[in-house]
This record gives sequence, C-alpha cells and structure tokens, in this order.
Amino acid sequence: MKPIPLFVCAAATLLASPVAAHPGHGDPGLGGWLHYLSEPEHFFVLAAVVMAGAAAATLLHARRRSAARRTHGR
Ligand SMILES: [Zn+2]
Repeated sequence: MKPIPLFVCAAATLLASPVAAHPGHGDPGLGGWLHYLSEPEHFFVLAAVVMAGAAAATLLHARRRSAARRTHGR
C-alpha cells in the first residue's frame, strides 16, 4: 500500500477542523471569556499553561537563590 503524503493529511485535517469546533467561540463580552474557563478542553490547556508557568517561576527562583548563596558564601 502506498503511504499517504503529508500534505494530503494536513489538507484533510485543515478542512475537517471547522466541523470539529464547538459553539461558543467569538462570543462578545464576558461569555466569550467564560467559554475558555467552562469548557474542559480549554480549561485543561489553560491549567497546564498556568502550572508550567508556576513551575518555571519556582525553578528560576530556586536557581537565583542558589546563585546568591554561592556569591555571598552562605
Ligand atoms: Zn471552545
């Protein structure tokens, strides 16, 4: 069997993506923002981004603290 070229797969995905979308996107005002917090598929992505940011901030803080200890000899 001949493999399907990548651009054919990409084109099929792009054509099908509007069908997979759910309502609630682009609503004006507060409803549009609440959609991203109330839909699980958006909320988990948002939560992952926030957790990654918190982990990065904690790591950066620990590194700076460690570097400060080395510099000041404590
Ligand atoms: Zn959505």
